[in-house]
Amino acid sequence: MSEIASPSSVVTGVPGVTSASSLVSFKKSDILIVGGGVIGMSLAYDLSKRGIAVTDIDKGEIGFGCSYGNAGWLTPCFSMPLPMPGMLLKSIGWMLDPVGPLHIKPQPSVLLARWLSRFLVSMNTGLMNRSVSALTEISKYSLDAYAQLDRDYPNTIGFERKGLLMVAHTKAGVKATLKEMNLVAEHGVPGRELDAEGIRNLEPALKGNLLGGVYFPEEAHAEPLAIVKTLTAAAIKNGVQVIPHTEVISFVVDGRKIKGVNTTKGVITSDQYVLATGSWSAKIGKSLNLNVPILGGKGYSIIVKPFNPTPKIPIMILERKIAVTPRKDTVRLAGTLELVNLDESITQKRVDTIIKGSQEFLNVPQNPEIIEVWRGLRPCTPDGVPIIGRPADYDNLFLATGHQMLGLQSAMGSARLAADLLTGTKPIFDPNPFRATRF
Ligand SMILES: Cc1cc2nc3c(=O)[nH]c(=O)nc-3n(C[C@H](O)[C@H](O)[C@H](O)COP(=O)(O)OP(=O)(O)OC[C@H]3O[C@@H](n4cnc5c(N)ncnc54)[C@H](O)[C@@H]3O)c2cc1C
Repeated sequence: MSEIASPSSVVTGVPGVTSASSLVSFKKSDILIVGGGVIGMSLAYDLSKRGIAVTDIDKGEIGFGCSYGNAGWLTPCFSMPLPMPGMLLKSIGWMLDPVGPLHIKPQPSVLLARWLSRFLVSMNTGLMNRSVSALTEISKYSLDAYAQLDRDYPNTIGFERKGLLMVAHTKAGVKATLKEMNLVAEHGVPGRELDAEGIRNLEPALKGNLLGGVYFPEEAHAEPLAIVKTLTAAAIKNGVQVIPHTEVISFVVDGRKIKGVNTTKGVITSDQYVLATGSWSAKIGKSLNLNVPILGGKGYSIIVKPFNPTPKIPIMILERKIAVTPRKDTVRLAGTLELVNLDESITQKRVDTIIKGSQEFLNVPQNPEIIEVWRGLRPCTPDGVPIIGRPADYDNLFLATGHQMLGLQSAMGSARLAADLLTGTKPIFDPNPFRATRF
């Protein structure tokens, strides 16, 4: 059961979310989740449906970490882990090109050195196949669960099932899209090969010298922050206590047991503790002497006014690594992955690169009207698979983190696995690929 020493409460963005000014007494709970991104909130929601008393805290606003402005794709077809066979030379190139779509920022850091060495040994076919299998499984489960969430809470999450179009303008790019199509087809994710004419028929907003690509008809997209808000509201309705602006500073530890967390709002105690702290997990893990090899992979999204013609279907411009998502009254352009750890600065050059790359293939105006520029830190593990399980050193600690590029699309499946393990239920997914003890 969890308790807080000096609690306080006011309502913020989501009805029922408490924060830090007026005094209330906090309910005790069985499980304390640290982190109110999509991973923490989907777990809180799943556990609350099982009748478990849960408290979720976050150092900031709920959903304002990496879960805030991502592309919103719910696309099991993107279940590739970051390290893929044959990437060694490419990854050296990433170090040398600071504005390329993928970049590793060289820096003297033990975390980076360890991360890179594990990343290199993870580039093998056997591991990739096992990872793709595990990632498609939790992503397909999540897609169904989001469709259900949309039915349960209509018109809240912006769920649309229009498929996903992946396009390429080089022969090598087309080859890569087909390889990906065949790989995910083996895991029950159907795709259809398209030539240049097929692409234009499906999405007339595309222009430029596109050679071919793949259409994945069953994929969906939604509004990322709206998903977190809906999950939060639903969890609160089921009794979950959600407390933003409450940062974990350190832990009260007794041997193999966590006894409490020291937060900026006092000590909170609970029976079990879950770290759903995304890119901050390595830092917080260090305070528990845990090796949690997660680096922040910075990405940007830019919301622009619609242009003419405006795309109707989410599009991945393969070689530019740009994700285009049509929204109700705007368009979101997202891209780049820069392994930087916790550096949240915004580089104008990267913003410009995404806009330029989009202009090659869409009618994005020369000086588009930008509504918002956002960056987020994807929590990247070196083997490309999230960490969902208990670390060896503690009996009542659990990790639910490291969801890299696919945290939104896999959150509900990840939560299902975590909740099964936390409650001693036979898990419906094989927990082995996700185990916390593999590093
Ligand atoms: C440009 C971009 C596009 C993307 N597009 C997609 C997409 O289309 N589909 C998809 O599936 N994924 C996408 N992703 C990835 C996805 O956004 C992430 O995988 C996901 O948001 C991770 O969720 P999380 O809950 O683990 O992390 P976060 O949302 O970052 O949540 C972690 C939370 O922990 C809190 N926290 C950290 N430390 C502490 C502490 N000490 N005390 C209290 N709280 C703490 C933070 O404040 C934060 O709110 C994209 C990412 C980016 C950057």
